[in-house]
Amino acid sequence: MSYAHTYYDQVLRLLEEHHSWFREVIPLIASENIPSPAVREALATDFGNRYAEGWPGERVYAGCPYIDRVEMLCSEMAKKLFRAEFADVRPISGVVANLVVYSLFTEPHDRMFALSIPCGGHITTGKRELGGTAGIARRLRVEYFPYSYEDLNIDVEETRKRLRDMVREKDPPKLAMFGGSVLPFPHPVRELAEAFHEAGAKVVYDAAHVAGLIACGLFQDPLREGADAVTMSTHKTLPGPQHGMIVARQTYAEQVKKVTFPGLVSNHHLHAVAGVAVMLAEMLEFGREYMKQVVRNAKALAQALWERGLKVLGEKKGFTESHVVWVDITPYGDGGTLEKKLENANIITNRNLLPWDIKMGRHYQNPGGIRLGTSEVTRLGMREPEMEEIADFLKQVIVDGKPPEKVRSKVAEFRKQYQKVHYCFHSLTGAYQYVRIR
Ligand SMILES: *Cc1c(COP(=O)(O)O)cnc(C)c1O
Repeated sequence: MSYAHTYYDQVLRLLEEHHSWFREVIPLIASENIPSPAVREALATDFGNRYAEGWPGERVYAGCPYIDRVEMLCSEMAKKLFRAEFADVRPISGVVANLVVYSLFTEPHDRMFALSIPCGGHITTGKRELGGTAGIARRLRVEYFPYSYEDLNIDVEETRKRLRDMVREKDPPKLAMFGGSVLPFPHPVRELAEAFHEAGAKVVYDAAHVAGLIACGLFQDPLREGADAVTMSTHKTLPGPQHGMIVARQTYAEQVKKVTFPGLVSNHHLHAVAGVAVMLAEMLEFGREYMKQVVRNAKALAQALWERGLKVLGEKKGFTESHVVWVDITPYGDGGTLEKKLENANIITNRNLLPWDIKMGRHYQNPGGIRLGTSEVTRLGMREPEMEEIADFLKQVIVDGKPPEKVRSKVAEFRKQYQKVHYCFHSLTGAYQYVRIR
């Protein structure tokens, strides 16, 4: 066999092995989900080999009539789901969607409000010294929202004060970025949007995580609460392919279009746009039922963990209103070590900072928390009783210190009954089935 052929075989074998392994794990990463077979079909089409720079009907290349129609259907459904006047489905990721609003609403060195990372913020809204996109790519000066450890949320009164001070100093922010990556409770957009607008700032909601919930009328409704635009990823609570999207008020339509192309995308991953379109149709039909179960499962998982002695944050407020569960695991070790142990037990989670970790001298490599999300396990058909079983597995590894290898085969056994994608029109192919077409 040739040298090249061994590489070829290795790569393809690793892909198949990944698929086999994922059939046996409990996937609890809050930023991940599993798309339907129809979405996977769209991803494998020729759309992924084409260019369609520009806007449907005004492309820079020929060959786009079908692509145009799919993209228009995609925008139409996005507008419906988010009850928005305008949608741009071309940003290729959540990061790019945020770059679009930074480019549109700020100038370099402007001030921007966002959540700090330990309080659930994302690196896209991070400071320059942390390598954050806002700091690095747009040179924004990031101010952290004052945050209440008690409420696990933005502190409205303290934010108002901070904003008044900035206005007094004649250095007000130009942008307030709500939303984040650990978002158990709705952000106070309604309470703060007016104050930001009066100070001359635009209000944007980064719905990367909670877009699915928002699309289905759960959690909160940023465009009605005063946000000018909403950016998102299409693959976290929305169960689409990895891509991004912006919905906004009509006032910003032309500017968003211009900044997105030619500013921030050239080819916009047309197979992904097709996949997003398929996913949005599924969400129109099954989204509400799916998203309600995601939240019920998150609450059930949090409660079950609490009953097994784990310190789930947000207890006083019912732990969570979204898909995410935030757990303080400091009595049992650190997030880095436990994440690895859980992985060896076939339970896929991620370590996560707690809001007070940096002050306690803890670092993101070995933080005090783990983050769990219920979007993917719900998509596999799991409900409240399964959350109890998952909590048992987590307890065995984290609290009881059982060797992961002992739990691993039990998890694989448990997973056997959950192999299909739910909440979609067709589900013939298994969720993690490896599809060979070569
Ligand atoms: C995941 C995430 C992003 C980035 O999205 P990608 O699609 O991975 O580029 C941006 N903002 C928040 C809050 C996120 O959680």
